[in-house]
Amino acid sequence: MGTKNQVHKLYEKYPKLFPKNCINCEPGWYDIINQMCGAIQVYIDNEIFDQNIQPEFVCIQEKLGVLDIEITGGDEIVKIVAKSCEKLSYKICEYCGEPGELYCSSKHRQWSHFKTLCLDHAIELFYYRLYKQQ
Ligand SMILES: [Zn+2]
Repeated sequence: MGTKNQVHKLYEKYPKLFPKNCINCEPGWYDIINQMCGAIQVYIDNEIFDQNIQPEFVCIQEKLGVLDIEITGGDEIVKIVAKSCEKLSYKICEYCGEPGELYCSSKHRQWSHFKTLCLDHAIELFYYRLYKQQ
């Protein structure tokens, strides 16, 4: 679905939000990142937004299996939009954008890497499903 080109399209589409390239995750999440950028851009282009606090992404990355977004500038509304994008990633496969859930890389949870994956990608990457502990 996604390629390196797609991530560069995001940088080109939202140059003010991305003063430098800072997206570091698999392509399954590019869609929700694009939607987040679109929502933020529409909002900051609006005259109710204080132009002196231009939001800029510092880092958009996978962390503990979900999206972690660091942003400077902006206001509370911008931060809420970024937060909601992080929350969307909890249920979307990082590789393909299909519905997903959290899996871990090892049976020993404390040493695991976590990733949000669809079942197909979990099988492909040999990830284990998490079960709630009683
Ligand atoms: Zn997938």
